[in-house]
Amino acid sequence: MILTDTHTHLYSEAFDEDRNEMMKRALDAGIERFFVPAIDSTYTKSMMQLEADYPDNVFLMTGLHPTHVKENYKEELAHVEAQLEKRQFYAVGEIGIDLYWDKTFLKEQQYAFKYQIQLAKKYKLPIVIHCRDAFDEVFEVLESEKGEDLFGIFHCFTGTVEHAQQALSYNMKLGIGGVVTFKNGKIDKFLQEIPLSEIVLETDAPYLAPTPYRGKRNESSYLLEVAGKLVDIYGLPLEEIAKITTENSKQVFGR
Ligand SMILES: [Zn+2]
Repeated sequence: MILTDTHTHLYSEAFDEDRNEMMKRALDAGIERFFVPAIDSTYTKSMMQLEADYPDNVFLMTGLHPTHVKENYKEELAHVEAQLEKRQFYAVGEIGIDLYWDKTFLKEQQYAFKYQIQLAKKYKLPIVIHCRDAFDEVFEVLESEKGEDLFGIFHCFTGTVEHAQQALSYNMKLGIGGVVTFKNGKIDKFLQEIPLSEIVLETDAPYLAPTPYRGKRNESSYLLEVAGKLVDIYGLPLEEIAKITTENSKQVFGR
């Protein structure tokens, strides 16, 4: 059984104390593929180190996270572009719009999102979308960029069934993580209406730990809790959930 964590910040400072043990727990649990989203240029070096340490398991993305779109966003976008020119990445992410923390840079967030979608298209890469309190704004950009060359993952999906269907209409798969295990998480109520072929699994570690670890540091081995919840929702054995969602991740990332 091979599980794929399509969104995990393994390079986070939260793992500085015990990164190798944390990786071992995940590998022992059958999580063998880790797709690692970028945040901004300050993390590039530690991401490369992680890839060097786990070349068969760790696959990197490049991108500028919406909450890190600040006064220097043009320099950050130039960094993303330079990275893409230099070497192989598996997605442009995470990118998108976040109006939960701060609305000051909404215009710049919209610009950065659109710009990075165009970069992804240029390199024929998927995008990984971060959307928080911003479905209308994200869909507006996706609508303007839609087409066969637009595809990817709607990371940490937490919307309604209508939002889910709209996301699928732009060739996005739904990244399902710890929220599906929360009592008030809501998405578990309608997820069975979405075909499993449209779902990928993620932890978003170190954030958003699933039940029973809610509120604690999240790590990739907890992907088993997310997969276990899908066993209940879809009524399929764990091996089947692992196989299908890993297959879906290969389809998106080409690896
Ligand atoms: Zn993330």
